[in-house]
Amino acid sequence: MAKKLSEFPSVPLCHQPTPLEFMPRMSESLGGPRLWIKRDDCTGLATGGNKTRKLEFLIADAIEKGADMLVTQGAVQSNHVRQTAAAACKFGLDCHALLERRVPGREDDYETTGNVLFDQMFGTSLEFRPAGLDMNAEALAVTEKLAAAGRKPYFIPGGGSNEIGALGYVSCAYELLDQIKANDLDVGWIVLATGSTGTHAGMLAGLHAAGSTIPVMGISVRQPEDKQIAAVHKLAVLTASQLTDTPIGVEKVIVDDGYVGAGYGQPAQGTLDAINLIARREGLLFDPVYSGKGLAGMIGLAGQNFFESDKDVIFLHTGGAAALFAYGNQLAENAANG
Ligand SMILES: *Cc1c(COP(=O)(O)O)cnc(C)c1O
Repeated sequence: MAKKLSEFPSVPLCHQPTPLEFMPRMSESLGGPRLWIKRDDCTGLATGGNKTRKLEFLIADAIEKGADMLVTQGAVQSNHVRQTAAAACKFGLDCHALLERRVPGREDDYETTGNVLFDQMFGTSLEFRPAGLDMNAEALAVTEKLAAAGRKPYFIPGGGSNEIGALGYVSCAYELLDQIKANDLDVGWIVLATGSTGTHAGMLAGLHAAGSTIPVMGISVRQPEDKQIAAVHKLAVLTASQLTDTPIGVEKVIVDDGYVGAGYGQPAQGTLDAINLIARREGLLFDPVYSGKGLAGMIGLAGQNFFESDKDVIFLHTGGAAALFAYGNQLAENAANG
């Protein structure tokens, strides 16, 4: 049965609304369209980011189910694990996380600095895993073990991307539509980085439920287009079905996989250049795993005149700056050359 968003339980974690800001110097350097940035890097929890919105709904569900701890998983420099760890502290829950060694050839301090440092500060217990396992299955197995030992663990899938977590991006879509209206914008596209799919799927579900036809461009950070479209569509359908009886068509799911580079967590030269450009044009921090790839996509598409130049384009900044320190040498070298 379709329900209103306000009928789903949530806890307050996120500074909201997050600002919607115009980027005059970035717009100028790309020669139009008018570029705006939705500041979900400013959600307020432990350096911010998009997982905080999802956790408002996931933590409420965990508390409702009587959980005393959260179990989740991510890559070593997972922003999701860091935000989950912080949220657990705020609600007096323990947190256990499995970290996948998904990214080859990293710097020496990759497993101790950035997000990992913050995980440790929040007292999260960490277990490492080699690359290539089904990490949600691994984390579920650990969850079952903890339950058998008398704990009350609540499993949160990687990225918080299920139909509960994705409600956070339904909320963001509603918030953004209000801001678009208040600023009288003529929005051609919303652009975002798409990974574990909850952000993209929730945004699509929210726009769909609100009757908006603004298209969303998802820049893939790891998977080929066909796989990412199928995964986003599956979760968008599930998420939207909680809010409306009208189904959401697969043609609404648009993905560009041209900016992945060598793979997840491996910035391409275009990623590093995009991070440098927006730092110097707007004083903003983007990351090498997600938002920098998404931004490289937006810059690339603008260069191909993909966007109508008299329209507004909104980039959803999903955060990730905490991971910058884990890529320090690579970023410093590029900054020196740029
Ligand atoms: C997780 C993450 C994303 C991708 O969001 P998904 O919901 O996993 O697709 C984008 N940007 C940052 C900084 C992230 O941490």
